[in-house]
Amino acid sequence: TLTTSELIAWISTAADSLAEHAAELTDLDAAIGDADHGTNMKRGMRAAADAVADAEFETPAALAKKVGMSLVSAVGGASGPLYGTFFLRFAQGAGDAADLDAEALAAALDAAAAGVAQRGKADIGEKTMLDALRPAADAAKEAAAEGADITAMLTAAVAAAREGRDAVIDSVATKGRASYVGERAKGHIDPGSQSAVLLLEALQAAVG
Ligand code: ADP
Ligand code: MG
Ligand code: MG
Repeated sequence: TLTTSELIAWISTAADSLAEHAAELTDLDAAIGDADHGTNMKRGMRAAADAVADAEFETPAALAKKVGMSLVSAVGGASGPLYGTFFLRFAQGAGDAADLDAEALAAALDAAAAGVAQRGKADIGEKTMLDALRPAADAAKEAAAEGADITAMLTAAVAAAREGRDAVIDSVATKGRASYVGERAKGHIDPGSQSAVLLLEALQAAVG
């Protein structure tokens, strides 16, 4: 099972990873957006990690809710409300268990991805973070249903996120700022799909 302290480790690992990859994310956003995704994610995840670092949480849901609220208030761009919604819905999907087993984690990731789709009015294939998040949640659910443990489940989820990110490299974007550049988006990785992969890799690292 996944404890609240492992979830705190996730957020702090994610904050480090997004800071480390901030320049790379901003370069991706420079190509098809406004060159701030790295800055946004670095600031947002640092604020979230600071908000949960020294606090005690009764449940993963309470922790995820705090993370979501921190992201919404720290990040002004599209990614703040979207990742904020990811964690707020993760909290709802996690229920009130004290620790998350594989099925509860899969349910949380599923609810989180559904929340992003709803908030962004996005569908799969529109070249957004959802192209990494949705397949990752589906892979997690499938693994959990087959009785996989959390480690195996997250391995499948991360692989699916990377595949989903790469599947839309040659697509145009039809949501967000990248939709403004039309055909010029083809051949570029969507910055949000890359940050989604980093976020899930951080979860895998925090558990493993
Ligand atoms: P902004 O576009 O406001 O500058 P960011 O650069 O931080 O915000 O985030 C851009 C990322 O947000 C995109 O790469 C994309 O993955 C994601 N995104 C933008 N709009 C949407 C949307 N409507 N639905 C889902 N994801 C979106
Ligand atoms: Mg941007
Ligand atoms: Mg911006």
